[in-house]
Amino acid sequence: MQTTLTTYTVQQICEDFEYNELEGKGLFGLAGKLTIQPEYQRSYIYLGTPSETAVITSLLKGYPLGLIYFNRLDDGRLEVLDGQQRITSFGRYVTGKFAIIDGNGNPHYFDALPSDQQDLILNSKILVYECEGKETEIKEWFKTINIKGIPLNEQELRNAIYSGPFVTAGKAVFSNSTSNSNLDKWRTFVKGAPNRQEIWETALRWVSEDKIDDYMSLHRHDTGITEVKSYFDAVLDWASRVFTTTRAEMCGLDWGRLYRTYHHKSYSATSVDTDVVALYGDPYVTNKSGVFEYVLGGQTDLKLLQIRVFDKPTRITAYTKQTKDAKDRNTSNCPLCAIGPSPNNTKLWPLSEMDADHISAWSTGGATVTFNCQMLCSTHNKAKGNH
Ligand SMILES: [Zn+2]
Repeated sequence: MQTTLTTYTVQQICEDFEYNELEGKGLFGLAGKLTIQPEYQRSYIYLGTPSETAVITSLLKGYPLGLIYFNRLDDGRLEVLDGQQRITSFGRYVTGKFAIIDGNGNPHYFDALPSDQQDLILNSKILVYECEGKETEIKEWFKTINIKGIPLNEQELRNAIYSGPFVTAGKAVFSNSTSNSNLDKWRTFVKGAPNRQEIWETALRWVSEDKIDDYMSLHRHDTGITEVKSYFDAVLDWASRVFTTTRAEMCGLDWGRLYRTYHHKSYSATSVDTDVVALYGDPYVTNKSGVFEYVLGGQTDLKLLQIRVFDKPTRITAYTKQTKDAKDRNTSNCPLCAIGPSPNNTKLWPLSEMDADHISAWSTGGATVTFNCQMLCSTHNKAKGNH
């Protein structure tokens, strides 16, 4: 790979600068010669953030913006390898897309700046490394240089590695938050920011059953994403049919796995809702996000609910009472040892070797209160097993 160090002024880079509002990305600069956001680049994430303003105030103070890297293609055109957030920031500013706010809260658009400040920005020199090499070489290197700033996340890296028409089609559907009428429905079930590729990642995770890299490699040259999109829609349609009331804990569950496991079973949305309401109202259920799978699975897997356990004062109270009674009767303080064969039927266990048990299990209505707590020796508690 060959590299050349060169400089451009902000004015040169901003010549014919184009910003696409719809896709939220800078497109071209250097009179059309520079592609600012090649498809393997992440979206413009400085939009509306303090970083965007910081780029402009740095230029006004004469601070350097740091090194920028371009990739020189065979036909002489350039694309930004690293620096597209900075370039898009000053490009958007110079073309009047946003204002900087001064210390008194007054906005200043580029056109309204005094001409000496305009010149200061336009004449700022930007230091650029131009590199030439094979696609794989450049992409490998791109992974290395991008560790500064906000690092690329896993899906942004995958988009770089498997760049092509498939990634372009996926991003058009899943990473475009400005013109997306489905976003509210998606947000009910899927966590993450569209522009950081997190919805796209979830869609891929579901259709590929967690083998995103294999899937992207296999479909890299596809021109569409029909399978990804229809699977994603099927999962969300199913989830919103079964669970008709929106709850915060639904967001971010692995609905793809739940769909694969349970969509062949039939559910009544009304009785599902009644069950969910009851479990949400149960103070002993500490893991609300487990409620949905618990109901889907026929209310058998108690681990999903993380039923509240007895606290220490409750355990000590029960232990003290049981041990006193056991001493009076000369039996073991573990009620199950007491009715068993010797020698353990008279053994007094220390607190550290006993565990708390619900006399009446939670699943049959037993509450986590003192009168329902009994201490069992560890062996008997494990054998009983049921909360
Ligand atoms: Zn025992």
